[in-house]
Amino acid sequence: MYILEQPVSVLKGVGPKKQEYLRSIGIETLRDLLYCFPREYEDRIYSFTMAELPHGHRAGTRAFVSGSPRTKRIRKGFTLTRVPLTDGTARGFAVWFNNPYTARQLKVNGEYYFFGRVERRMGSLQIQNPQAIEVCDGVKGYRGSIAPIYSKRGKLRPGDFERMIKGALTVAAGRLEDILPDDFRREYGLKDIEFCLKNIHFPANIKSLEKARYRLVFEELFLLQFGLLLMKKELRDKGEGIVFEQVPGETGFIYSLPFSLTGAQERVWAEIKEDMESDRIMNRLLQGDVGSGKTVVAALALLKAAQNGYQGALMVPTEILAEQHFLTLTGILSDFSLHIELLTGSCSAGQRKEIYNGIAGGDIDIIIGTHSLIQEGVEFKRLGLVITDEQHRFGVRQRSALVAKGTNPDILVMTATPIPRSLALILYGDMDLSIIDEMPPGRKRVETYVIGEKVRDRAYGFLEKQLKEGRQAYVVCPLIEDTELVDARSAICVYEELTEKLSGKYKLELLHGKVGGQTKEEIMRDFRDGRTHMLVSTTVIEVGVNVPNANIMVIENAERFGLAQLHQLRGRVGRGESQSYCILINGSGSRTAHSRMKVLAESNDGFLISEKDLQLRGPGDFFGTRQHGLPGFSIASLPQDIETLKHVQSAALQLLEDPHFLRDAKWEGLIHSIKSFFDETRLPAGVI
Ligand code: ADP
Ligand code: MG
Repeated sequence: MYILEQPVSVLKGVGPKKQEYLRSIGIETLRDLLYCFPREYEDRIYSFTMAELPHGHRAGTRAFVSGSPRTKRIRKGFTLTRVPLTDGTARGFAVWFNNPYTARQLKVNGEYYFFGRVERRMGSLQIQNPQAIEVCDGVKGYRGSIAPIYSKRGKLRPGDFERMIKGALTVAAGRLEDILPDDFRREYGLKDIEFCLKNIHFPANIKSLEKARYRLVFEELFLLQFGLLLMKKELRDKGEGIVFEQVPGETGFIYSLPFSLTGAQERVWAEIKEDMESDRIMNRLLQGDVGSGKTVVAALALLKAAQNGYQGALMVPTEILAEQHFLTLTGILSDFSLHIELLTGSCSAGQRKEIYNGIAGGDIDIIIGTHSLIQEGVEFKRLGLVITDEQHRFGVRQRSALVAKGTNPDILVMTATPIPRSLALILYGDMDLSIIDEMPPGRKRVETYVIGEKVRDRAYGFLEKQLKEGRQAYVVCPLIEDTELVDARSAICVYEELTEKLSGKYKLELLHGKVGGQTKEEIMRDFRDGRTHMLVSTTVIEVGVNVPNANIMVIENAERFGLAQLHQLRGRVGRGESQSYCILINGSGSRTAHSRMKVLAESNDGFLISEKDLQLRGPGDFFGTRQHGLPGFSIASLPQDIETLKHVQSAALQLLEDPHFLRDAKWEGLIHSIKSFFDETRLPAGVI
């Protein structure tokens, strides 16, 4: 048995009662305990002069005692002891409440390190209840300068917790098996596990802490990344998927299209086709910028499934998108006498019943719909292919709910959010990746400008000119309504301004998150059908909604959005014949913001833009948009550890290629850990 899997009861002072309590807060083994890492550290290195000591924080300084202690009673039963200090930059006091003893041991004119809470009040400086350690031979004389601070766990006292950790380290010392073998650690510059566990809790110094943290972050990301890749490999090797045969329809369909496929479309279709024709279960992510032509690829896959006698389902997040796909697919697949239906929340009870019957009886070949598809009454006769579009709106669970309605159906997940490769590998490491990185020909580039507030009027003048020529426009704002807390323009306020200016001539609508679902769909339909000329909105305008006549977008306070998000917004224009424009108003006046936004003016490449965004802002946005069902990290933190992640990924890919990997005993510990890592976090069944 691995030492870390010993129960906490092997520790001194942990009897049955305490063990039970620890279990209730999720700590059963030594591993559970030792992998509760400190939340932060107190830097007790004496980095501050007295003049710099920060008010309200625990901090340390090095100072001389410049007088004898004075103790006075401040209230009944309360004493306050003060010792004057100086270090040449400022004067102040060390003060102790109800503790005259520490102060009495200090020598007048002696030099000490003081560490405690800093209070500055009306020109006076105090360090409260400090530790005081005599300076002997410079800073070296002071040990243990970095102290761990743990998050509160249940009702355990911090001291108690620290003692248990120390106990666990002692018990485990010399008996820890490293799940990462020596040669691997040497190759990637990783310290051994004993060193790391010791130093993550009680760092000898900053360097050791950094090394310990690097390894533990590496280990955590590696378990996840390698685990995902391993699952993908296992799924591939298992071969329990449906084998779709070659069908004659495909070529005819491609010829029937009014355009020829782009090289990228051909490539991803070949990848998908290969998966479908093999006996492995397809689990593939199809990424492609807005307008890159994912729908045709989906149509090809659905057609192939149908011609093999299987049913296909396409799930999208909104009714409007479902309708749009339904119209497109019934149009382009009209030659194949397939039965295609649309199932959304708007279907009447009668319609729904009929569709349910059609799905259960197998009359319906292709069903397109919203969440309605995963409702209980929906049962398929022979579901063979599941496609979800704009996947970031669906959690893994919703996807698995649909997948569970078939027996090992192939899965294709489509997304218009370009995700940098490093993140895609860890968020979707269990999936194969297909990328459409080429736009259909003849697409005009959206001319993009970054301007300051001073020329806003000119921008709106230009927008009005487009309206006059019969085009439609979007104006996007970061806020719904004005607030004193944020200095930015709101949709309501901009809508009112523009209404006053333009309402005689054009019809404007306001759209934001507080507008109800039904009204929202109506507003979108009016805009799509040209009854409305201009839409003033927050970022709620639908991804993927196609209004080719809308050719201009103005984004207010564009500095408040991430680049990837701006690019997504911009994707609403540039879908028609006429030249399109996107005007980004920099409301901050900041030069940095300006040059950041310039990336958009210069590039149309979603992947490049999202890479830049990742460098500039970290991956919060990407993680935020998906309820990914992945475990929370206990030490890794992705904005910070993205470089480590890249090393982890190349290590994981390399190990995966190693033909001896599974046979070599030195990796047993790792395999064991991966299994418990994924068990504990209960990765949804559909993914594995
Ligand atoms: P998205 O990837 O955003 O879902 P769509 O599939 O909706 O993109 O395609 C956007 C538009 O481009 C549609 O009008 C579609 O007919 C057209 N299109 C798709 N592929 C091609 C192509 N190879 N050549 C020309 N136009 C294409
Ligand atoms: Mg689409």
